[in-house]
Amino acid sequence: MFRLSSKKLFTLLALSFIIAVHFPCFAGSEDDYMENLYKGRIFFNQGLSEQAIAEYEKASRLFPDSKQALLNLAILYKDTGSYSQAINVYKRLLTISPDKIIYKNLGEIYCLNSQPDHAITALVKSLKLGSKNSMIYFWMAKAYEDKNDQDNAVWAYEQAIALDPELALAHFNAGIIYKNKNNWQKARQEFDRAKELEPSINEINAQLGLMYFYQDDYEQALALYKKALAADPENKDIQKQIELIYKRAGSVFSQKLGQRQDDRMAKSLAELVSAKQVPAAPIVRVQLGEVKSLRFKTAVNFTIKNIDESGQNYIGQKDTLYTVKAANDFIDLFKDEIKIAAFKQKIIIDYDNPKATILVFDVEAGSGNYWASKTDRIYRGKLEIGLNDAHDLRLINIINMEEYLYGVLPSEMPPDWPIEALKAQAIAARSEAYRKMGRHKAQGFDFCSEVHCQSYIGAKVETKKTNNAVDETSGTVAMYQGKPIDAVYSNSCGGHTQGNIFGDRTVIDYWLQKQDVLEPTGFLFPLAPLELEDWLWSYKIPVFCNNEKFSRRSNFRWMRDYSHAQLEALINKKINIGKLLEINILERNPSSHVHKIKIIGSKGNFIIEKELNIRNLLGNLRSGMFNLNVKLNKKNKPVEYIFYGGGWGHGVGMCQVGAASMADQGFNYQDILKFYFSGIEIEKIY
Ligand SMILES: [Zn+2]
Ligand SMILES: [Zn+2]
Repeated sequence: MFRLSSKKLFTLLALSFIIAVHFPCFAGSEDDYMENLYKGRIFFNQGLSEQAIAEYEKASRLFPDSKQALLNLAILYKDTGSYSQAINVYKRLLTISPDKIIYKNLGEIYCLNSQPDHAITALVKSLKLGSKNSMIYFWMAKAYEDKNDQDNAVWAYEQAIALDPELALAHFNAGIIYKNKNNWQKARQEFDRAKELEPSINEINAQLGLMYFYQDDYEQALALYKKALAADPENKDIQKQIELIYKRAGSVFSQKLGQRQDDRMAKSLAELVSAKQVPAAPIVRVQLGEVKSLRFKTAVNFTIKNIDESGQNYIGQKDTLYTVKAANDFIDLFKDEIKIAAFKQKIIIDYDNPKATILVFDVEAGSGNYWASKTDRIYRGKLEIGLNDAHDLRLINIINMEEYLYGVLPSEMPPDWPIEALKAQAIAARSEAYRKMGRHKAQGFDFCSEVHCQSYIGAKVETKKTNNAVDETSGTVAMYQGKPIDAVYSNSCGGHTQGNIFGDRTVIDYWLQKQDVLEPTGFLFPLAPLELEDWLWSYKIPVFCNNEKFSRRSNFRWMRDYSHAQLEALINKKINIGKLLEINILERNPSSHVHKIKIIGSKGNFIIEKELNIRNLLGNLRSGMFNLNVKLNKKNKPVEYIFYGGGWGHGVGMCQVGAASMADQGFNYQDILKFYFSGIEIEKIY
């Protein structure tokens, strides 16, 4: 199942063997030792932990002073929750040679195992041996928290931050302690910084909102809680908090906000754009959302054609605010709050002028994700408004492919990235759209406007540069064996791309599984337990997507911390597991992304397969490339889950940050696309 030849693997293992073992050995056992290490690696990736442990045990019996076998063993024990065994292995390693990394790992395990005093002692030893690893202070802070010593805990978080100012969770956790000490100002600063570094931290908006609320800044508090609610629409606590803010702030505040909304709607206008008409480009139908009502303005006079009735067309005026509301089987049109027309079933807002656009107020997007928002949007093309089964309005933008891509590009890639990366993105987006045209046909449209298809937020975000990238590649797609490819992409592959993880996982020849780099990094996949730790904790791996010029570090390497209650609630939102008892990682793909987990709950065992299902279940983790540390309490019950991982998105196909880095290093869009998709041709098809 793995792409690596075992011959290559053995060569590398032989090298590490020579480094790790410093004493003469007898013939035969060397081969056995290497085979044990090899099998340990393979079993580990297949989720056969017991077998993997047995192999590393055997290896360490053959060569008791081999650090490699013991380190892998200790990590496997940690990963399987056998903390006292892991501690014993680390103690054994210390008798071979006391070293700062082993003390650090030992301290971490003691901390997870609810032995804070031992943890602090071990971590201090690591520091004395010269370690500068910020995680030492992080674990120390956790140990102090265990001892209810908030002063030392916050001190330790500050030390961690001093060593690594980008350690988002240290900022967040320090913020929580300041909050508990009623130091709103300091707490707010730490939360602000944490949010800047890692906006996907759960509860960051709610925590920050609370700090603004305590400091009587109701407007900021409300904005943050609204963001929190968009990310978690069912959350009753957040709903209550929003009500409380309105109540506390008083009616003048509500009036002020209402007035501002009215002013905004009065002032904002749709605009004329330069039309892009490519007769051969296909027309696509993009769903913008399903709403009870909408408010809009157009840049030129418009016509409403009632396409199911033979009645009169309605002519509307430009720069005028209209409201459309669903009313059972009818679509009602209002102007100045007065109903002026009612249409049956479906209408299309159309214009004589191809430069026309429509401004739609308060469009919701990304619901359930941390980037969820409600903003005013401008759309080219026509707008179809129909009724869905629930009698809500379904908004569909009818637009040609090239103008659609104008709106996709800046929402899928930052417009200030290098032009060659933007061109590669334009071709990838066009190819994917071609390939997936009509995927929502049963629902009456081609694409949704969310990441499921491609994120599309209309003309307001267009820039000259992104439109140029579309124009310069107009009608161009990537082809494989004469067909446009499914040119999927994600923000960051974490350093290693994945093959087909979707659907039935049939191999797709042009989706590569490889490290995101031209020169070897020294890591060999599939990774052994020890290597996986190094891989996930290192911010310095020389791969294309490790580039802070184009992304936050948290897109490349991230951490997510849940209390037991939080994670239990998150999982139960999707699967009724009862009480959360245990989580096991069962299988990894060759890229080290998790493919299968087992959740043991009071209502049974649940196997969850596939990266996206797993990520969604565990509270929208950034990626499936992760490992998990579980912190226990004195009674051996899990109290905290610390996920640490790499990359953002599925990691299949083009790595966007990688593409930006390549462009920055002088590669052109063809090089970039051919690096991420093998055997393709780039062709202009219209
Ligand atoms: Zn979709
Ligand atoms: Zn990458």
